[in-house]
Amino acid sequence: MPKIVIALDGHSGCGKSSTAKALAECLQYAYIDTGAMYRAVTLYLLRNQIDLTDNQEISEHLPYLRIRFQRNPKTGINETFLNDENVESEIRMMRVSENVSQVSSLAEVRHFLVAQQQAAGKEKAVILDGRDIGTVVFPNAELKIFMTADVQIRAERRQKELAEKGQRVDLEEITKNFEQRDFMDANRKESPLRKAKDAITINTTYLTFEEQVNEIVKLAKQKIQEV
Ligand code: C5P
Repeated sequence: MPKIVIALDGHSGCGKSSTAKALAECLQYAYIDTGAMYRAVTLYLLRNQIDLTDNQEISEHLPYLRIRFQRNPKTGINETFLNDENVESEIRMMRVSENVSQVSSLAEVRHFLVAQQQAAGKEKAVILDGRDIGTVVFPNAELKIFMTADVQIRAERRQKELAEKGQRVDLEEITKNFEQRDFMDANRKESPLRKAKDAITINTTYLTFEEQVNEIVKLAKQKIQEV
């Protein structure tokens, strides 16, 4: 079967990661959650009380960061490891969500992570989800999807997800965080969040999770047959 690169970009909280994970399982492809990489860098900087606007200091720390993913055989989740520590739950906390867009706006951080994402996807048969996959990381990806949804719906879904993990967060706080991140991500100088010209938009506002996965699986299978 031909191998392709699938780029899944879009707004915050559209279900990109869970969709990518389901798609990867269905196609037997690798999956790279690039947002988790920006979150892991943010967690490291916060823990070490590094000024998030200090480019110079951040650049000096980057070579000491090792980020990798490891599949948890019990849950099937690709968990994020930072310097060999499992940080999967901590990177999803609001403290990280509130600071990640500041960190991801820095050119040094982006260059550091984009190089790793490109290396990880060079053998193809891979799905990457993020903000700049179809525009910058893999501009020649065979299939590009741009996911979006009404912000209220996204916030309700995320609140439910966090509650299932035992975190109770105000709906307003989540909505505000999504709006702020979308704004910062779309308006930064370095690789802003943009729909690639050749990306297919999927609005998941009125779709169930199963429907959104099925739609993308259908597109992926068609593309794999074409190449
Ligand atoms: O995908 P997720 O919501 O976990 O991403 C967290 C943040 O990481 C985004 O709001 C964005 O600031 C940053 N990000 C990015 N480029 C990517 C993936 C994520 O700038 N490719």
